[in-house]
Amino acid sequence: MNVPSWLTRALMSVALASTPALPSGAAPAGALPASNFDHDVAPSADFYRFAVGGWLAKNTIPPDRSSWSTFDELEQRNERRVRAIVTSHALLTAASGSQERKIGGFYASCMDTVAIERAGIGALRPALKRIDALRSRAQLAGIIEHGDATGSAGQEQAPALAFGSEQDPRDATRVIAGLSQAGLTLPTRDYYTANDARSKAIRAVLGTAMRRIFTLLGDTPSGATEETNDTLAFEQTLALASKTPDALRDPFANYHPMSLAALQRLTPNFDWHTYFAQAGLGAAGTAKIDVGQPAFFTALDRLAAGAPLAQWKSYLRWHAVVAGTEGLPKAYRDARFGLARALYGYAAPPPRARTCTNFTGNALGFAVGKLYVARYFSAAARARARAEIALIKASLRSDIGHIAWMGPQTRAAALAKLAKLSTAKVGYPDRWRSYAALSVSRSNFLGDVLNAQGFEFARDVAKIGKPLDRSEWGLTPQTVNAYYDPSMNEVVIPAGILETPFFDEHADDAVNFGGIGAVIGHEMTHGFDDEGSDYDGNGNLHRIVTPRDAARFHARVACVINQLDAYTSSVALRLNGKLDAGEATADIGGTTLAYRALETSLAGKHPGTIGGFSPQQRYFLSWAQVWRTKQRPQAERAQVLGDPHPPARYRVNGTLSDEDNFVRAFNVKPGSAMWKPPGSRCQIW
Ligand SMILES: [Zn+2]
Repeated sequence: MNVPSWLTRALMSVALASTPALPSGAAPAGALPASNFDHDVAPSADFYRFAVGGWLAKNTIPPDRSSWSTFDELEQRNERRVRAIVTSHALLTAASGSQERKIGGFYASCMDTVAIERAGIGALRPALKRIDALRSRAQLAGIIEHGDATGSAGQEQAPALAFGSEQDPRDATRVIAGLSQAGLTLPTRDYYTANDARSKAIRAVLGTAMRRIFTLLGDTPSGATEETNDTLAFEQTLALASKTPDALRDPFANYHPMSLAALQRLTPNFDWHTYFAQAGLGAAGTAKIDVGQPAFFTALDRLAAGAPLAQWKSYLRWHAVVAGTEGLPKAYRDARFGLARALYGYAAPPPRARTCTNFTGNALGFAVGKLYVARYFSAAARARARAEIALIKASLRSDIGHIAWMGPQTRAAALAKLAKLSTAKVGYPDRWRSYAALSVSRSNFLGDVLNAQGFEFARDVAKIGKPLDRSEWGLTPQTVNAYYDPSMNEVVIPAGILETPFFDEHADDAVNFGGIGAVIGHEMTHGFDDEGSDYDGNGNLHRIVTPRDAARFHARVACVINQLDAYTSSVALRLNGKLDAGEATADIGGTTLAYRALETSLAGKHPGTIGGFSPQQRYFLSWAQVWRTKQRPQAERAQVLGDPHPPARYRVNGTLSDEDNFVRAFNVKPGSAMWKPPGSRCQIW
């Protein structure tokens, strides 16, 4: 996994990251079912309620989920499909060593909870022994590398740091090594630094989970308490040295390329030669290393020099266990679930079948994806999606042609970048990833999990020091999401999101443009907003917007920040305008662009109403359907505090109150809640 890229992708994808799902009997709803509306509310009073009030009334959040939304529904539907694939009997009788056999075997070993209880922590013993044998600080780098390779490298929870391949921000044709801040169990630094009651309560729950797991590993009660205190203090130190999610958004401030020698000078107490050699990285791979957050690595270096070895051992033991929890006996899984419950408000752990479906879909993601698209995605759907994407791109081209805040120099650079923006990745990759090097036991699930993580780590490290492979996908075909990647200058739309209510091969254009069309428009504008405009058409870190035009853009975004800051979520928290403005601005852009694409496709014709609504009205109703969401208070709180996407109600009402076309389509009048005077509507695209 590409380190800064996972940061970027997480930020630029359209959905909030949500946890994936279980089968239900419900058939997918039609394009705009009338039963989703609430006719007791006027569209101009609260459009979100009008469009989805019926849906909100008839749906509840399943106990093993933190929210219930379009994304959850689709994830559940896709999970049901993936489950049908991974449980297919044919897989277990497929040729030994084939991808199909590996999929079936991985799922079967995950479901075999009797064998998992019997195996205990067996597969973790070598790692725990290595940690126990830690005698000198010189050994730290090797042990951390081992944790990265078999843990969750490239993710926040990797021990101490995240290491992975990265497209060189200054030469997008090459892949270099990237290092970033990581090593926390809780999602962001604020969970460790904030002193409100809720943050303190979550830290207490984390402490409880740690004490329980250290006890399971054989500690006495006082030993477990000591190890817990040590680990919490260690993570606290890492948190204080970490940047906020906000501060990670600036690619220039998070790019610090250096030689291995310079990195070694920055962190003299950490043996990078051992780390990289053990990771299988030769001289070509370490010629240029991007150290995302040098201050974090300086703090890590101080810990390498000064933290007691006993504290390091506790911290590393905890992370070794956390990385493989789902492969461990129930007592470990329950301890970990206590933390998930506190963080996201789940009422119950997911059924095992759901966990195993998701694990298999991740570990063998593209092998599963290949079977998924063969069954569930048609060539006709791909062709229609491509035609719609072309219209949205044309709409953005004409937009950039006249947009008021761009001067001639910016406009020319933006048009050159747009000409290179690729929209070729729709549905599924044309070349499939190989899982030949992944071995699956079918009897030792924890071993399979560690193997899969090691396989992914090795695959990623192998890319470093080589030319870029442009054919790679950052999401599997079955994923319900889409993204814009500024380094690749491309929009990627997996088959998983080309489903109702985002997209229906058989629906009218209004529904598709209001759904997936506006989502694609949202992603495309990211290429030219405050983040994307730091990159040129070739994906190099090079600003395409002049300082004067950037200031004009920011003056317009200030309108969005003010609008967000004045908005209170349903958990009585004020939104953070600065955090959410990028995504809210992309929503305004996406809905504006896709609306124009709809007008192009209507070409002045006036098709009649469907269900009493004009195409223009159906367009906005479709946008609202996409965001119908029920969310537990804990999850909404986590979103408001750390996720750059505003809550669903805002994405509908906030966005549309800025749209002249919406005001016209629903005849919104002064004095109603959805009304903003024309001069005060935020317009960027
Ligand atoms: Zn976005």
